[in-house]
Amino acid sequence: MSELKVTGVVQSRREFLRNFLRGVLLVGLAGMGARVMLGRRCQSAGDFDRQKLCKGCPDVAFCPSAVLSVGRKVWQLDPSKCTQCGRCATHCVLQSSAVKCVHRPAQCGYCRLCFGFFQPGATTLNSAAENQICPTGAIRRKFIEEPYYEYTIDESLCIGCGRCVKGCSAFGNGSLVLQVRHDRCVNCNECSIARDCPSDAFRQIPATTPYRLKAGTESSAS
Ligand code: SF4
Ligand code: SF4
Ligand code: SF4
Repeated sequence: MSELKVTGVVQSRREFLRNFLRGVLLVGLAGMGARVMLGRRCQSAGDFDRQKLCKGCPDVAFCPSAVLSVGRKVWQLDPSKCTQCGRCATHCVLQSSAVKCVHRPAQCGYCRLCFGFFQPGATTLNSAAENQICPTGAIRRKFIEEPYYEYTIDESLCIGCGRCVKGCSAFGNGSLVLQVRHDRCVNCNECSIARDCPSDAFRQIPATTPYRLKAGTESSAS
């Protein structure tokens, strides 16, 4: 190859590299500019949505999660109306219901004898399967210090039957509630649980506050 040709190849490679870097720089600047112009940083940091759904986008305008869509509504049940009839476990269109038990530790008494954990009439207060009220073993019990125990829900095992919620509501602090989990719910036009709920507990509420963890209130946090 002649010296002239080699010089030409080197020059065209340099030009290609220069153009490529210029393109990368322009795309980066355009993205930054759009974010500055929109200036609406996502407010969900640290709350339930961030833990379960948020992908850490720099701006709500780039949010891929439909849950944060302004003006959109999602199905949710009101724990103060729910009578734990069992239909949340059986009437969801999903094979494993989108309704799960949610624990609110701030309301929990950390009881040694937890009526949300033990079968009524359990003779020994240990975690043997026959003593537990949960049919799927979804509740974990951990000793903290005498006489306190911590309870957590493994939602991958929970079927939303509400047995634990009924026990805790009847004899405890009511720290266990049922909620539609929005990382699972496909938000049917007509929720098949809502249609058959005997307590009329289901409503469509703003997707920006998709949980009802206290009576009459909507919330974005767990
Ligand atoms: S169907 Fe209604 S009453 Fe029955 S468990 Fe679900 S929310 Fe509660
Ligand atoms: S008792 Fe039912 S609602 Fe409660 S954790 Fe177990 S499966 Fe879920
Ligand atoms: S809207 Fe559909 S997926 Fe969601 S809880 Fe109701 S039946 Fe299940």
